This record gives sequence, structure tokens and C-alpha cells, in this order.
Amino acid sequence: MASKFSSERDEKVKLHTRKGHDMTWSCDKHGEPIKFYCKEHKIPVCHPCATKDHKPCELDDIEDVILERRRILDDKQQEIEEMKKQLKALDSKLDSTVTSASNHFQSVNDELKMAFDDKLKIVKDKEKLSIHLIDEEADKEIQIINEKRERRIKSCHEEAEQQQLTIKESQAKIESDTKAISEVVAKKIKDLTSKNQHAISTMDNVDANIKRIKQFDKRLVNEAMQVLASLDNVLNLKDVSDCLDRIQREVQKVGFVEGEVGGEHSGRIDGYIDRQMGACQVNSHYIDC
Ligand SMILES: [Zn+2]
Ligand SMILES: [Zn+2]
Repeated sequence: MASKFSSERDEKVKLHTRKGHDMTWSCDKHGEPIKFYCKEHKIPVCHPCATKDHKPCELDDIEDVILERRRILDDKQQEIEEMKKQLKALDSKLDSTVTSASNHFQSVNDELKMAFDDKLKIVKDKEKLSIHLIDEEADKEIQIINEKRERRIKSCHEEAEQQQLTIKESQAKIESDTKAISEVVAKKIKDLTSKNQHAISTMDNVDANIKRIKQFDKRLVNEAMQVLASLDNVLNLKDVSDCLDRIQREVQKVGFVEGEVGGEHSGRIDGYIDRQMGACQVNSHYIDC
């Protein structure tokens, strides 16, 4: 049994030595090797300390304390190892969480961007549609305005054409009045000329007759009164001259009187020539006799 104990002890010493137990650890006070651990004062003590200062104290064998503490430490080391593994796992989990979070945020951002892009696109599309509608409406209004402008221009053009036509008609009428008057004048002058020629030839005849009857007294007595009477029908020179003067005066009186432009009467020929011609007519009728 003793040998067994001794062998166990040796093994223990060897084990401790192998485990790095410090054999030089000694008491500061006595220089003796540390043998015990005072549970009461919580300090390691040597044999003299134990027998003197810690006599009533409960003492543990230092080897037991060392074994116990080493075991605790070993356990703790195992725990630490385990914890380190877990921490490493946690670390990689953290990494993966970071990656996953980053990926998630990226996908959320992508989704968000898509959603907002959609919103932007909706706004843009709405704007395009609005502009299109505005354009369409404006085009319609422009078309209406253009049509109205065309109608007004056409109406204006037609009105101007109508006015021009009226003016031209008026001009033609006045021109025809003038022409009629000049024709009347020409006719009157022609009449007077013809009557004058007739008077001249009548005078020639009377003159010849007078010469002829003067050659014989019988003829002179019998025909003188008849020949003289034929002179009564001859033109009165003063009448013809007066009539010519009158015609000339009346012709000079003929003039264009401008009226309102665009009005119904844009002008007329003044001078009452027809009435004066009428007077002349009376006169010439008298001449005619
Ligand atoms: Zn001591
Ligand atoms: Zn003590």
C-alpha cells in the first residue's frame, strides 16, 4: 500500500513538475516552500506560517488548491475555447449578416428605385399626355381662329370686290351720262350745221331770185313779195349764234362732282345739260320753222 502511495505521490510530483509546477515557490517570510493555503486569509503559507500564524485557520494542501485551481482554469480554458469557437462563428455570422444586410439593403434600394422610377415615369407620362392634350386643344383653337380669319378675309375681299364693282358701275354710268351728253351736243351742233347750210343755200336761192326778178319789172312786181316772204322762213342768225353760245356755256358747265367714296352715288355729272338742250331744242324748233 505504501509503495502504491509512494508511487502515486511520485506520479503526482512528476505530473506537477511536468505541468510546470514551480518547485522554487517559497514563503517570503520564512524562505520555506509553500505547503498550504489558508482559506480564512486567502493566502498561501509555508509550514512555519501554518504552525505559527495560521494555527486556528482551516488549511488546504497547496497541491490540492493548485490542482483545484488548475482544474477550474482548465475548465475555463475549455469554456473559452468553446466560446472562441462560438465567437468565431458569431464573427462569420456577423460577416454574413453584414453581407446579407448589405444585399438586402441593395435589393430594397433596387426595389425602392424601381418604385420611384415608376412614379417618375408616371409623372413624365402624365406630363407628356397633358402636353399632348394642350397641343391638341391649341391646334383646334388655332384651326378655329384660322378658319375665322379665312372667313373674315374672304368676306372682306367680297365686300371690297362688291364696292369696287359698285364704283366701276357708277363710273360706267357716269361715263355713259357724259357720252350721252356729248352725243346730244354733237347732234345739236350737227343739226345747227345742217340748218345753217340750209339757210346758206336758201339765201343763195333768194339772192338768185332777187337778181332774176329785178331783170324784169313784171316779175319784180308779181314775185317780189313772195320772194321776200320766203326770207321769213330763213334762219335767224342771232338765234343760231345764241344757241351755239348757250351750248358752249352749258358744255363748260358740265363737270364731274365727286360724291362719297363707296356710297351709292360716287359722283355725278352736273350741268343740267339735258334741260338746256331742251331749251335749245325749243330754240332749234323755232329755227326749224
Ligand atoms: Zn512562512
Ligand atoms: Zn490563516
